[in-house]
Amino acid sequence: MTMNTQGRPTAPTSTSVSDIETVSGSRGLLQAEGLIFEIGTSETTGVDLPAPKNRTGRLGGVARKVPTGLPGLSEPEMVRHYMRLSQRNYAIDLGFFPLGSCTMKHNPRLNEKMARLPGFGDIHPMQPQATVQGALELIDELATWLKTLTNMPFVAMSPKAGAHGELAGMLAIRQALIARGEGETRKRVLVPASAHGTNPATAVQCGFEVDEIKANARGRVDMDMLRAKLERTDDVAGIMLTNPNTCGLFETDIKEIADLIHAAGGYFYCDGANFNAIVGRVRPGDLGVDAMHINLHKTFSTPHGGGGPGSGPTVLSQALAPYAPVPFVVKNEDGVYSLVEDMDGEASESFGRMVAFHGQMGMFVRALAYILSHGADGLKQVAEDAVLNANYIAAKLKHVMTPAFEGYCMHEALFSDAFTADGIETLDIAKALIDEGYHPMTMYFPLVVHGAMLIEPTETESKATLDQFCASLESIARRAAQGDETLKGAPYLAPARRLDETRAARKPVLKWTAPEGETVAAE
Ligand SMILES: *Cc1c(COP(=O)(O)O)cnc(C)c1O
Repeated sequence: MTMNTQGRPTAPTSTSVSDIETVSGSRGLLQAEGLIFEIGTSETTGVDLPAPKNRTGRLGGVARKVPTGLPGLSEPEMVRHYMRLSQRNYAIDLGFFPLGSCTMKHNPRLNEKMARLPGFGDIHPMQPQATVQGALELIDELATWLKTLTNMPFVAMSPKAGAHGELAGMLAIRQALIARGEGETRKRVLVPASAHGTNPATAVQCGFEVDEIKANARGRVDMDMLRAKLERTDDVAGIMLTNPNTCGLFETDIKEIADLIHAAGGYFYCDGANFNAIVGRVRPGDLGVDAMHINLHKTFSTPHGGGGPGSGPTVLSQALAPYAPVPFVVKNEDGVYSLVEDMDGEASESFGRMVAFHGQMGMFVRALAYILSHGADGLKQVAEDAVLNANYIAAKLKHVMTPAFEGYCMHEALFSDAFTADGIETLDIAKALIDEGYHPMTMYFPLVVHGAMLIEPTETESKATLDQFCASLESIARRAAQGDETLKGAPYLAPARRLDETRAARKPVLKWTAPEGETVAAE
């Protein structure tokens, strides 16, 4: 039996854990739980009220004639049902979340406390502006930070996710081209092969055509190909480039790329989702960027994913600022804040409105709390620590896994599957990580790397966490290199084993249907 330093046993000695079957279906203290339709009955209810007296229906002929068939549970059963389900969720507050590209970092509790202050949490977007001056001031202060950190003159605060911010930037570019009388002729947008899928999707959504540029052997934009693509210039609308890119690498030719695009008459859209790698160190405005979204939920914390909120303010250059979406906050000379909501006056050239109100207020509060609690020097350290952590992982694992590219990375470490034995795939490694208690890293993305494994530790993880994670991944990688077939069956310890993920995504079963023979009146 193995013992920890306090003499407590740390692992069972006998049967392999995955072989143990329990009568209840629970495993240890992780409770098995059926669907609410399976455990509840329409006869049960959490309340016990007397039937109302003298009740006359007011629904006329449309009153329901059969029971709803909805399952009922007593209150403690209901509480347990949802508590048990919640424990099936993996969360950043539970363990390390090494997803690359998504930037899952710890969200300080201070952010939550600030977002719940009544002056921010309890206000309504239709309140008179005079009663929400503090909230408008907060939006304006956050906007000032974002403009300062990027060295850009304008920011559209309303987009509600990274992809939405891309849409804002590309619509501003389209509007600028229309204003130049070139809306119909300049349709081609260059997009590197390593781009996040949202980039080409956004370009197409705005009516542009995507022209793909390959990556070179260093994982950066192939400059010869870019120059060849720019031999013809009269149809170029712009480029959508991610920096640092989705291979976790800084685009070293970025200034030349900006110059080439501008000389061709196009605009430079920069996908700023990876801003956490350079915040406080690099100002995208200095690189010739015309538009860039910032994922507040990635760079400045805020829990996201699984449908959680996003916020994608988009900074714009002087050339694009007139076309920014409404609404935006302005500070008047008398110190009063107001919202420019209509497309006249200073917003007369705006491309329009993207959201019903003013953006994602709760996230503005969290982002500003993150920014203020770090300060300018702290934000610089955010970028440095994010890059240090990623390089620590890359260095620890490069002797057992195959780095996708040579040299140092920025905020994420990227490996290919070249080290695995025949028959063992990236998927098997990811599933084995679940048995080790980790959410898998991003797999098979970016597409330019075979069997890609993209790991982003972020600045908020400690060395101890990274060491533990690397020890797990190193042991799995060694098994993968030796062709250990047991990997094909992982995960063994999770409540569900291998799921048909493609079918689940393409043909999701979203509605419960009673098993044959059971009559349920649910409508
Ligand atoms: C996350 C991400 C996006 C999209 O952002 P959402 O907030 O998920 O819409 C775009 N580009 C890159 C590189 C990203 O990592």
